[in-house]
Amino acid sequence: ADVQNPAGEHLPRYVRVNTLKTTVEDVGVYLKRDGFTFQGNASRLEDLTLKENHFVRDMHLPELLALAPKTDFHDHFLYKGGHIILQDKASCLPAYLLNPPPGCHVIDACAAPGNKTSHLAAIMKNKGKLFAFDLDAKRLATMSTLLLRAGVTCHQLAHQDFLKVDSDGAQYKDVEYILLDPSCSGSGMVCLRESTSSNQEKDQARLASLASFQLRCLNHALRFPRLKRLVYSTCSIHRQENEDVIGACLQQNPGFRLVPLLAEWPERGLEPYTQCLRASIATTRTHGFFVALLEKHSEAANTKQ
Ligand code: SAM
Repeated sequence: ADVQNPAGEHLPRYVRVNTLKTTVEDVGVYLKRDGFTFQGNASRLEDLTLKENHFVRDMHLPELLALAPKTDFHDHFLYKGGHIILQDKASCLPAYLLNPPPGCHVIDACAAPGNKTSHLAAIMKNKGKLFAFDLDAKRLATMSTLLLRAGVTCHQLAHQDFLKVDSDGAQYKDVEYILLDPSCSGSGMVCLRESTSSNQEKDQARLASLASFQLRCLNHALRFPRLKRLVYSTCSIHRQENEDVIGACLQQNPGFRLVPLLAEWPERGLEPYTQCLRASIATTRTHGFFVALLEKHSEAANTKQ
């Protein structure tokens, strides 16, 4: 068996505290009242392996709590009231690393069902403008419900192909930050992974087509005239959708460079793209994931390192 691929039920239950509605401390108080025991701040990977009814605060993401696998919050009032968001740790990285300040203009290019959008809004403290696009009407409907529940108000949802959004449009002239989390193979999702493929040729063609779409999205995003920073993420473990897309993009857009991310993060992008992060169940106790942060050369901004 693939050691990277034990069953998904071994992943911790991650709970992101929605700071638009509450605080980590208050959620901790409610959980303790409900019979959960706080085990302190995690400091090592092993601390994320929890017994039933135990919880810790994550060591990388301050607004994230980890609980035992499969802890069920779907009927819990904290979840129903939008105080907590059930989101894998790796998928919290893009918004956290992009870190758009309150008041700025941001695009979430492929946004539905909107977990990263609501995270961006929380970081922006609901101040500024958050343009969110998606092609899929059904996923957008789910997203509207999620954002309403989470108390997000700074967003503008559009049922639109991001590749057709006019980067020179007057409404986007102040966009400085973009989160791009495009469709990918999903090969990092522990529950979706297959150890052997029945048709490798077909898989390769699918990967090539996804990579070409991802690169087109990236190139398009970098055209927004005032863009300072862009975070690119996938839940894929394939180099073709991750480092190769970033490599091609850097070659085609010499005005942008990679920002080195979280020195303490244990899994890096494949050589030579070690500024980027990878994630996996074995190394980070998350789904398989990839994140890259690009910035415009001339813009020296604060970095979370
Ligand atoms: N960022 C989302 C979140 O965290 O909840 C997940 C996004 S999912 C990986 C990719 C999304 O891209 C899908 O909802 C899909 O409908 C959307 N999509 C695919 N092609 C698109 C396009 N050309 N323009 C906008 N959205 C697109």
